[in-house]
Amino acid sequence: MTSPAPTTEMNVPWLGVIADDFTGASDVAGTLAGAGMRVVQVFGIPAPSMQTHDVDCIVVSLKTRNVPSAAAVEQSLAAARALNSYGVQQLYFKYCSTFDSTPEGNIGPVADALRQEFVPASQITVVAPGTPALRRTVYNGVLFAGADLLQESSMRHHPLTPMTDSSVPRLLQAQTEYPVGQINYDELEAGVPAVRSRLQDLSSQGTRYVVVDTLSDRHLGTLGAAVLDHPLVTGGSGLVGGLAKARGRGLQPQSDLTARPRPTSGSSAIIAGSCSERTNEQIEAFRQSRPCFRIDPVAIAQGHNVLADALDFAREHLPDGPVLIHSTASPHEVSEAQGHLGRARAAELTEHCLAAIAEGLVGLGCRQLIVAGGETSGAVVHRLGVTTAHVGKEVSPGVPWLRTDTDPEMAILLKSGNLGEPGLFLDAWEHVR
Ligand code: ADP
Repeated sequence: MTSPAPTTEMNVPWLGVIADDFTGASDVAGTLAGAGMRVVQVFGIPAPSMQTHDVDCIVVSLKTRNVPSAAAVEQSLAAARALNSYGVQQLYFKYCSTFDSTPEGNIGPVADALRQEFVPASQITVVAPGTPALRRTVYNGVLFAGADLLQESSMRHHPLTPMTDSSVPRLLQAQTEYPVGQINYDELEAGVPAVRSRLQDLSSQGTRYVVVDTLSDRHLGTLGAAVLDHPLVTGGSGLVGGLAKARGRGLQPQSDLTARPRPTSGSSAIIAGSCSERTNEQIEAFRQSRPCFRIDPVAIAQGHNVLADALDFAREHLPDGPVLIHSTASPHEVSEAQGHLGRARAAELTEHCLAAIAEGLVGLGCRQLIVAGGETSGAVVHRLGVTTAHVGKEVSPGVPWLRTDTDPEMAILLKSGNLGEPGLFLDAWEHVR
C-alpha cells in the first residue's frame, strides 16, 4: 500500500467524518483544527449544495448512538453519501473513546453498512477508540479510562450506555458478524511497515475488523500513516490526529476562523444534561461563585412548569454573568428518576426541556452557550436550528468553541460528559472573548 500524495487542490476536502453524537463531532473537529486543518462542522445530514470551498475536513454530527440500529445505519449512510459527493478521499466513523454503545450497537451495524457500500469486501477496517490525550488507552484490546478498566470507571453508571465490559474486541464482536482481530501495542512499536504488513496478513486470513492498541500519540501517528489510504477508518478522536499528522498538510492554524467577528453583546449560559462524573465536578466548581438551577425529569412528568421557572431564574441572574441550568444528578438520583419514568422517557423529557430552555435563553439575549452532554447537545443544537459551524479554538483537548451560522451568530461549545477541566464552566469564556 502506498500513501496518497497530499492534494494540492484547495477546494476539495480530503476527510469526511461521521460522528455518532454532537459532542464527539466537536471533539474530532477540534482535534483537526488543532492540527491546522480548516474544518466545518455540520449538524445533521449535509445538503448536497453545501459550499465546501477551501475546507480540508467536514465533520457531520449525527445523534445515532442511542437510536434503533436501522435508523443509525440509514442516517450514517446518507451522511457518507453526501460526503462522498463532495469528493472526500477518506471516511472516518467516529464513536466515543469509551466505545459507548448498547449490546446490539450501533457501532457494529453502522461500520458494517459503511464497509458494505464504501470498502472492497476483502479490506480490513481498523477500530481504534483509544485517545491518549483524553486518557483513554487500549492495551491488549482492553479499554482503560485513566487508570481504570472501562467497566470499573464512572462509565459503568452512564444513564443510557452503561459500559460493563472493557474488552473492545468482545464488545464489537457482539455487534457484527465479521471476524474481529487485534493488533497489539508491540506491533505498533515496530513501526508503519510492520503495521501495514500485519493488516495485510490479518486481512488475508479473513479478519475484517482489527482493534488496535493505542497507548500514546506516537502509536496513533504510526497507525494514521499505516491507514492513510484506507477508504474507511473508525475510531475515537485520537486517530484523526494521527491521520492529520500523517497527511502532513497542516495549513495555517485556524486563525482565519478564530478571527471571525465575535458576538460582542449578549449574555452567557451553560446547559448541562450530562450526568458524567466530570460534569458533576464542573458544576460543583461553578456553583462556588455563580448561580445554578436544577431541573428534575420527575417534576416535568408531574406537569410542573419547569421551563418557566428556569427562564425566570435566568432572567434574574443573566445580567450579572453566566448562569447554569442543569439536570445533572448523581448515579443514585438518575436511577431513581429512571425507576419512576423508565430510562428512555427520563432522557426524552430532560432533553426536550433543556432544549426548550436553551431556546428561551437565546430569546433572552444569550449569545454564548456551553452545552454539556452528547445527547443533550444534539437536542439543543437541533432546537436552535444550527446547521453548520466553523470550528475555532480548543479550550481543552476535544472541546473547541464553534461559531454558528445562525442569525444572530452564536458561540457555542459542545462538551462531552467527561471532557474538560473541572473549572471549564468558569474559564471557557476567556477563550471566546
Ligand atoms: P454524556 O455526554 O455525559 O454522555 P448525554 O447528554 O449524552 O451526556 O447523556 C445523558 C443522558 O442522561 C441524556 O439523555 C439526558 O437527558 C439524561 N439525563 C440527564 N439528567 C437526567 C436525570 N436527572 N435523570 C435521568 N436522566 C437524565
